Amino acid sequence: MKDIAIIAVGGYNEIGRNMTAIRIGKDIVIMDMGLRLDRVQIHEDTDVECLHASDLIAIGAIPDDSIMGSIDGVVRAIACTHGHLDHIGAISKLSHRYKAPIIASPFTADLISQEMKEERIFHADNKVMPMSAGERYHVTEDIELEFIRVQHSIVDCVFAAIHTDKGCILYANDFKIDRTPTLGEPPDFSRLRALGKEGVLALITETTNSGISGKTPSERIAKDLVWDVLIGTEESRSGVLVTTFSSHIARIKAIVEAAHEMGRKPVLLGRSMEKYWGTAARTGHSNREGIEVFGRRKSIDKALKRIMSEGKDKYLPIMTGHQGEPGATLSRVANGETDYLIESGDKVVFSAGIIPQPLNMSNRFTVETKLKMRGARIYDNVHVSGHACKEDHWELLRLINPEHVIPAHGNLITHGYYLMIAEETGYSLGSNVHLVRNGQELLID
Ligand SMILES: [Zn+2]
Repeated sequence: MKDIAIIAVGGYNEIGRNMTAIRIGKDIVIMDMGLRLDRVQIHEDTDVECLHASDLIAIGAIPDDSIMGSIDGVVRAIACTHGHLDHIGAISKLSHRYKAPIIASPFTADLISQEMKEERIFHADNKVMPMSAGERYHVTEDIELEFIRVQHSIVDCVFAAIHTDKGCILYANDFKIDRTPTLGEPPDFSRLRALGKEGVLALITETTNSGISGKTPSERIAKDLVWDVLIGTEESRSGVLVTTFSSHIARIKAIVEAAHEMGRKPVLLGRSMEKYWGTAARTGHSNREGIEVFGRRKSIDKALKRIMSEGKDKYLPIMTGHQGEPGATLSRVANGETDYLIESGDKVVFSAGIIPQPLNMSNRFTVETKLKMRGARIYDNVHVSGHACKEDHWELLRLINPEHVIPAHGNLITHGYYLMIAEETGYSLGSNVHLVRNGQELLID
């Protein structure tokens, strides 16, 4: 029988720049090639297409894949489980090093193709193959890749099951156990249960929220929160601005529906708003009807000017800048760089949490303070997370009952919390739950 190894390339020491290689004998499947956003001080309106791979590796922004040179095997496929930049953002910088197709769900594959087209330094010619949840791809004669439907904060997110002679390896980065999603179907529990019965050799899982007790609320709850803030008010004539994750199509849809309920026209503003909404429209997850979308700075400014002249109470602008990113539309409004005037009593709704790292916290503090100084009322954290919490992890472990568990996508703190959950579930550190660091290869017996 072929030996199986998990190679932690990136994302095991930090949150971001995810990359894992799974070696089955001499065949390798790479899972994800992501970017660590804070290391390039990136925000949703910035691209790194002009930066070189070696520079990005040196600053810890993309996975250091030099370990792959010492691994005895050939990369047969690269698979990405969803379209967040910490999972696909390094594809255009690294994929040309491997002669293998890139397999991703249709929405994710569309985003990957865009990343590769925008890249200015490398010209990767890897074939991008869309594959939907429920479908399989023959990696080699005896290795199969299967996508399983799951929920997260971006549409078309999947688990990847790599089927081998020795059993299946389930790659679960990222996910939430959402039984009442507002877009798409709930996770494919019956397939996961069946997988558990067939036998799962190893689970590779994110640990982002493993230190948070309970379960992650459904996106249905987030929709209620958003509607409660936007509609449940007596101050219905004031100016209202909403900012959220451009890639969170379900959330944007909830805000757009609230706008219609309020009798206001929804307007999406920001380069990444245009990118993700356009991609969602192309792949059947949204439509452009009744919604204006502006991505270029000039057209954004023109739209804001028009909103001011026609009346702020007629529109609901939905914009980039929820982390206070300099240059994003909300920051420009806060700086007074556009014609949209914030007046006393105008509302700014952050349908996002603060990503807890100092750069974001500082930027967010700055933008909020500037908005408040102009008289804005702030509605903070009108949001629920897209990552599994403690009891969701417990549930997944019990559902699929893996022989081995490998925490990924996190740092020592979040892995530590996860290890405690795994031990409570009956696993034992070093024997069947493994703490692996970037640059290490773990042999699975
Ligand atoms: Zn994600």
